[in-house]
Parts: sequence; C-alpha cells; structure tokens
Amino acid sequence: MSESLSTNLLNLSQAGLGEFFSSLGEPGFRARQVFKWIHQAGADRFDVMTNVSKALRARLGEIAEIRAPEVVMEQPSSDGTRKWLLRLEDGQCIEMVFIPESGRGTLCVSSQVGCALDCTFCSTARQGFNRNLSLSEIVGQLWLAERLLSPDRQRRVVSNVVMMGMGEPLLNFSNVVEAMRIMLDDNAYGLSKRRLTLSTSGVVPALDRLGEEVDVSLAISLHAPNNPLRDKLVPINRKYPIEMLMAACQRFLERKAQRDRVTIEYVMLDGVNDTPAHARELIALLRDLPSKVNLIPFNSFPGARYRCSSRNRINRFRDMLYASGINTITRKTRGEDIDAACGQLAGQVNDRSRRVMHFRRLEDNLAS
Ligand code: SAH
Repeated sequence: MSESLSTNLLNLSQAGLGEFFSSLGEPGFRARQVFKWIHQAGADRFDVMTNVSKALRARLGEIAEIRAPEVVMEQPSSDGTRKWLLRLEDGQCIEMVFIPESGRGTLCVSSQVGCALDCTFCSTARQGFNRNLSLSEIVGQLWLAERLLSPDRQRRVVSNVVMMGMGEPLLNFSNVVEAMRIMLDDNAYGLSKRRLTLSTSGVVPALDRLGEEVDVSLAISLHAPNNPLRDKLVPINRKYPIEMLMAACQRFLERKAQRDRVTIEYVMLDGVNDTPAHARELIALLRDLPSKVNLIPFNSFPGARYRCSSRNRINRFRDMLYASGINTITRKTRGEDIDAACGQLAGQVNDRSRRVMHFRRLEDNLAS
C-alpha cells in the first residue's frame, strides 16, 4: 500500500491542492472545495464530496487518498486525558494527547519522531532523533483527533493546539509552519492565533523566521535562569544562550503589534532549579520581557535522573514570581496515570521492541 502512487491530499497545503487540481485540468475553486471537505468536514473519502462531479470523485479515488497516522493504542486517563500512540507509514510511532478542561479541549501535537536536542529531563530525548514528520503527519493529528473525539462531526472538540508533543517544532520548520497555517485557516480548523501555541527550546534563527511567517502564540522552554544551568538542562543553550533567546523573544513580540507576551515554561526539578535564588534570577531575567510563567511539575519516568520539586517549593517559587508582578501559574499535572509526559508511551514501545530483541538474543544463546 505504501508503494501506491496515489497522492495523499492531507500532505498538500491549499496552494499545493491548487497545483494538484490544475494539473488535472480542474478549475481553481476545486482546491478550496476539497480542502474544506478534508479539513472542515473531516472527510476521508471522495464519494462524500457532493459538490464535486461524480467523474472527478471516481478519478480521485484512483489517484489520491486522504491518509493520516493510524491509532495503534489508546490510553484513557481517569482525569479525562486521552493519549494515543500513532503509527506512521514507515512503522515509526508518535504520540498525541488530548486534555479536556472546562470550556476548552487542548490537543498536544508531535512534530518529529524522537528529538535531537537531548534535554536531560525529557523522556523523548532518550529515544534520539529519527526523522521529521511530514505535513500530513502533523496536521493529520488534528484531523484524526477531531474524528476520534467527535465522530458525528457535529461540533469541534479541539479548541486549542499546542506544539508540545515529541520533537522540536522549529527544527521541522516548513512542515510545522504549513501545518499551523492549515490549523489557523477558516476553511479548515479556524483556530485563533491565541489558541495555537508553538513551544520551542530556543532555536533562535528559526524563531526569527517564525515571527515573520506565521502568527501563533509562543512558549519558550526556559527551565533555568542562567547559562551554566541551562547549558546542562537544555543543551541547545550552548549554541543560543539565554541573552540571545531573550532578544529573539523581544523581536518576536515587536514584529506584530497584537503580540503581547510570551509564555515561559519552567519545569520544577527538585534541588536543581527551584530555590529562592533561582526565582530571584528568573525575576531579574524577565524584568523587561512581557511574559507569563508556567511552572511545570516534573513528570517523572522510569530511569529519570530528577525528582519533581515538592508542592511547598513550587508554591514558594510561584509566590515569589507573583509578588514581583509576573503572572505565574503552576500547570496542572494531567494524565499522570497514563505516563502523559510526552515521549513516554512511544518510548515504552521502543523499549519493548528492544527488550524483544534482547529476549531473542537470550533465546539464541540458550539454544546454542
Ligand atoms: N521541543 C519543544 C517541545 C517539547 S515538549 C520544546 O522544547 O519546547 C513541551 C514542554 O514539556 C517543554 O517545555 C519541555 O521542556 C517539557 N518537558 C519535557 N519533558 C518533561 C518532563 N518529563 N516533565 C515536565 N515537562 C517536560
């Protein structure tokens, strides 16, 4: 099936669909019609596209397809969080998480298989980097989530998307930007730019390009208030240190008048980055950057070298930031019972396959 020559229309932007249809000799409006069927109505077949001629629908059935990643496993959590393990065409797996809250539903979307950045507290990092996701694999997560969560397609369930799944979105720049454009498009998912957030560890040149090319909300994985500590926790800091990153955040905000602040993510690691001295350093660092801070309780995983800070420490840290005038919240831990820290599920599958190899070797040894 993967060797079929059919074109996956989920892999085409609206402009790409335009080229596809003009190569078939079809008029310009066809691309928008089909785009809406796919992304607004969630169609996975051509025969439902009633405003497209029967002949063209039949032809599309022969030469094209609408194919998103496939669900291999679903883990519902007792708090309503749902996490899916998705398989891609080449057999690789990624994760997608849906977090329902009152008044909104947030989908956490992956951008790469694995990650190259090696942040020391991150479970995805331990898998290493495998490859970038294609456009259909990124926007296909939202397409699929809407179908899974609202099978009758009567209402949209995903109101917010965060590019906070596996991978560093700015290192898969063009596919991520193209996918986000579709997420924002009124003919597709129609997300508002305040409800679409890209989280990055701080790939500064790509951050500047992002600011020019698309209007979304920005979250920065800071996690440390000084370079020596951040060098250890988020190694890309050695290339783009904190001063460069802060300056890039300022440029991002200044480029568009309506951008009012960035979100600073700060994972709470017991005894590592959570002392009052760290809080004071962070306050000084953020003095001139319009920002709000999300404190993230560390989500532990087997083999992790950190522990989560105590509730008391997190509260004290939050109170210090708050008292200095920084809008600070502690992110709720969700889906703890399903290992919702990104990368954990795919990590387990990979581990399991390694374990299977290990057992085979064991069996071979026993047999010989
Ligand atoms: N590569 C992007 C997206 C990654 S995941 C980035 O670095 O921003 C989204 C957030 O979860 C990041 O802030 C990341 O640092 C954080 N994170 C990763 N592992 C975590 C863990 N085990 N516990 C809590 N937060 C974690």
